[in-house]
Amino acid sequence: MPLADFPRVRLAHTPTPFEPMDGLTKLLGGPRLYVKRDDCTGLAMGGNKARQLEFYLGEAKAGDADTILITGAVQSNYLRMAAAAAAKLGMACEIQHEERVPGMGADYHSSGNVLLDRVLGATIHTCPGDADEKAADAALEAIAGDVRARGGRPYVIHLGEDHPPLGALGYIDAAREVLDQASQAGLAMDLIVVPSGSALTHVGMLIGLRLAGSKVPVLGICVRRGGDEQADRVLRRASEVADMIGKPGLIGAEDVWVDDRVLAPGYGIANDETLEAISLAARHEGLLLDPVYSGKALAGLIGLVREGVIAPDQTVVFLHTGGTPALFGYQSLFG
Ligand SMILES: *Cc1c(COP(=O)(O)O)cnc(C)c1O
Repeated sequence: MPLADFPRVRLAHTPTPFEPMDGLTKLLGGPRLYVKRDDCTGLAMGGNKARQLEFYLGEAKAGDADTILITGAVQSNYLRMAAAAAAKLGMACEIQHEERVPGMGADYHSSGNVLLDRVLGATIHTCPGDADEKAADAALEAIAGDVRARGGRPYVIHLGEDHPPLGALGYIDAAREVLDQASQAGLAMDLIVVPSGSALTHVGMLIGLRLAGSKVPVLGICVRRGGDEQADRVLRRASEVADMIGKPGLIGAEDVWVDDRVLAPGYGIANDETLEAISLAARHEGLLLDPVYSGKALAGLIGLVREGVIAPDQTVVFLHTGGTPALFGYQSLFG
């Protein structure tokens, strides 16, 4: 089915800005760096999920749902933005906090996105730390059962691989925006760098570029899983999206590029490279990145520049996917 036929609601402020990062370009001695500001999508403080939610909430609305359900990490930006989207559309929202990140303190559990979840009026549930993706989904289904038993009409936003990757559709437009903005600025892009978690942002960007006939490579910096596992996931999800929009075979293994150099020690845990990237972006660009996603993605990009994998004469676009509120949940890192 063509993209235009998928149910959709408008939530994101688009097109988001496209800006040079002159300070970081100078500091690193090239490549020429640009940033696509998807931290500026609006919807309760912005981020990549605004574009993804347009399609989930579109389906929810088309199915006459009255309650949105979603599960994720305690400091998930997705949960915060789903709560905002539900509020905007007059729906209730039940969110499930998964204790995915061990050893986190009081700020992590009460500030940043958690504070905003509360302000936005979401009902908050918690799920034990040892739950994997499937177990967390099952626990969420149980909550959906309770909503149904109360006479509600739940819509569950599923990010697991046994559900269609609807959110990726939101990034097809983002790819078109980047292509337009780069061409208006007279730039030949050599590379687009994105964080790769559920991989739907990564996949949507890739699909959008190839649909528009662009061969620009997309590099996904792993924030959740190791490189081999993530590469498989990107290819599987990309094939599904290509099928969904009636373009089977659009993406092949040669399109998939991921790098997990800054993933350790694991999801949601910042390392020295990430803290350095957050600090450099803040102090040389006035940009606020987060320790879980956008900071790690920039750290991966900086690492590849320093190693010469990304050459000084290249033009690189960094997708800033947001996450800024999580800084407040991780404030002890910035003592
Ligand atoms: C969710 C999220 C990501 C990861 O996006 P996926 O589509 O899940 O790969 C990146 N950055 C931020 C700030 C996020 O909230």
